[in-house]
Amino acid sequence: MLIPVRCFSCGKVLAPLYPKFLELVKSGKSPEEAFNELGIDRYCCRRTILAHVDLYKDLLPFGGTLNRPERLKKLVQRYFEGKK
Ligand SMILES: [Zn+2]
Repeated sequence: MLIPVRCFSCGKVLAPLYPKFLELVKSGKSPEEAFNELGIDRYCCRRTILAHVDLYKDLLPFGGTLNRPERLKKLVQRYFEGKK
């Protein structure tokens, strides 16, 4: 899902740091170097970012289908056909 706005344990605001963290890691830095550069010192905050899995792009096609089961069924079929 979306990155939690705050660390679950200490409450530090993490959401604005997550894209910067991804950018640093993509540029070739290790996660530890990225954490140090962004000032994320606590293990709880590091855990929150490292354990996060972005799933929102997978779920976006299913938005707005709660009241239209036939559309949901079609989307689910199309989604799983694309995954094979
Ligand atoms: Zn924390």
